[in-house]
Amino acid sequence: MSRKGILVVVSGFSGVGKGTLMKLLTERYGQYALSISATTRAPREGEEDGREYFFRTKEEFEQLIAEDRLIEYANYCGNYYGTPRDYVEDQIDQGRDVILEIELQGALKVREKFPDALLLFVMPPDAQTLAQRLNGRGTEDEAVIRARMQRAVEESAEVEKYDYMIINDELEESMEKLHQLIESQHSRIDRNLEFVEQIRQEVRELAREFQAGEALEVHE
Ligand code: 5GP
Repeated sequence: MSRKGILVVVSGFSGVGKGTLMKLLTERYGQYALSISATTRAPREGEEDGREYFFRTKEEFEQLIAEDRLIEYANYCGNYYGTPRDYVEDQIDQGRDVILEIELQGALKVREKFPDALLLFVMPPDAQTLAQRLNGRGTEDEAVIRARMQRAVEESAEVEKYDYMIINDELEESMEKLHQLIESQHSRIDRNLEFVEQIRQEVRELAREFQAGEALEVHE
């Protein structure tokens, strides 16, 4: 039986450690395809075009929107971020689980377009830890950190729209939890209706054979 790929959305406040978590997950489990977003934000030190993001100008990004080449996009703290369509659709068609690490507005758009997407939210163990991680990263200036904290307040108001949360306390544990959550989705009845229908018919046929005494003879 071939497995259909699941579209997994992972969101969480800035600084919660989503990026590290995703990196670990995709390194450990080869079945996941991590989508690379396009963005107009400037690369951070160490980031490479085509690896962390496709870094694009505002004009280039608007071109992608006009050509309908993004599944979703959003404006986050003054920059565009969006998910390229082709990669995601190809990977899902090939049966791979695709992970989108995106913010709330994008997550909600994905849910509208793909109702069976799985929406996960990564939480910090407490707010203090978030502040430490955000400050400790040292890649953003204070105004950016303030804007991101404000965004965290807004996002926290809508966490109920997600399916599951993962508290990112211990990295390894969070990664395993994430993997299990995605894996368990593959066993949902509503994701396996074709198989269910096939078994249903086979059992019906078997019952009919039993009734007619045919199956009993075969097994004796
Ligand atoms: P950062 O600038 O820290 O890399 O990302 C800022 C926020 O944008 C994060 O919450 C991240 O999950 C989100 N983000 C990254 N790529 C996308 C995308 O393609 N679409 C949307 N809607 N959000 C994204």
